[in-house]
Amino acid sequence: MTTATQQPALARPIPFGQPMLDEAEKQAVMRVLDGPILTHGPLVKQFEADFAAFTGAEHAVATSSCAAALHLACLALDIGPGDEVLVSAQTHVATAHAVELVGATCRFVDSEPRTGNVDPAVIESAVTERTKAIALVHYLGFPAAMDRIMALAERYGLAVIEDCAIALGTTFHDRHVGLIGDAGCFSFYPVKAMTTGEGGMLITRRDDVAARASQLRAFGIDRNVVAERPVPGLYDVQMLGLNYRMNEIGAALGIAQLGKLPEFLRVRRRNFRALADGLSGIDGVEVLGKDEPLDTAGCYCLVMMLDDALAARRADLIDLLKARGVGTSIYYPQPVPRMSYYRTKYDTRDADTPVAARISDASLAFPVGPHVGPDDVTNMITIIAGAVEEIRHT
Ligand SMILES: *Cc1c(COP(=O)(O)O)cnc(C)c1O
Repeated sequence: MTTATQQPALARPIPFGQPMLDEAEKQAVMRVLDGPILTHGPLVKQFEADFAAFTGAEHAVATSSCAAALHLACLALDIGPGDEVLVSAQTHVATAHAVELVGATCRFVDSEPRTGNVDPAVIESAVTERTKAIALVHYLGFPAAMDRIMALAERYGLAVIEDCAIALGTTFHDRHVGLIGDAGCFSFYPVKAMTTGEGGMLITRRDDVAARASQLRAFGIDRNVVAERPVPGLYDVQMLGLNYRMNEIGAALGIAQLGKLPEFLRVRRRNFRALADGLSGIDGVEVLGKDEPLDTAGCYCLVMMLDDALAARRADLIDLLKARGVGTSIYYPQPVPRMSYYRTKYDTRDADTPVAARISDASLAFPVGPHVGPDDVTNMITIIAGAVEEIRHT
């Protein structure tokens, strides 16, 4: 008889994230290095056009990161000192940092427990006279309740920024996320759905937001492409801008990766379904979003909620899984209002955003990306079930 303690480690460990790069990306980068243009070139424009075509966006502005895109979104929407922005409590800190960087005030909104996305009922109760915008994340690639949120935004005259860093491929009522509110921001950091090394994208259906974001992305210069200047080297600056551009090397990577994205997404959804089904037989754990439709979800990773007894032993569980070759992560390790900067500034407590706090404290994230094969999923299910059992009895 095999007992849990005898479970062997996988010969080939499954990391939480792994970029999928091959000859196509290598050759694309080498072509840039062999040529004369490293920045301000045609590949960034092509990547923007390809990304706009994939998402159905009217405008796409490539940036140096998602954090940069979020900052540009706040600037382009004229959010500033005196304004309050309702921010997902359960998100990457970049969503909130963008609001702080423009001098506005964050008010954190708790999650609903089914998917971890912002709870529209909490949004409504948090609106004040000063509220100018909502900055929300599409958590794990499940779309937030955008119909209810847009109805509130309209009623109270609020701008909506969608942090789509882990929601590439996510749609809501047939529209790609990021195009429902006023601006959507994506990340191409290595563990995300596709990568450019570092990089991001802002998409919008608004002409004015696109124009301002692209000008602010390059110092606020009136024309940011050399060829557009009547006299080379001559330009004017009309606003306080930044240098948040993407370069040609990143764009070359992005074009190649975007071509593979439909297949990446197909595998993500398949893996999520198989893993969620396999874990459903384990007592005391629950998969976030397990009843959501997957064909409209980006399926960034699978988040498993642990019951109290298991949550108290989470560190041991992580160690055991790691020893057996299953990589995990925590999304996100703290609710943003608990991070020291925000806790100190706003005197927040977990009791204000209890669902977001519980997700941080009692969840484990597993990979479902295209580096995970069908056998890996089967192995993960066996190892996770065994490790949970073993933790319960030691
Ligand atoms: C990863 C992530 C970011 C940050 O993306 P960068 O491209 O590294 O700036 C922002 N928001 C969310 C929700 C993320 O997961």
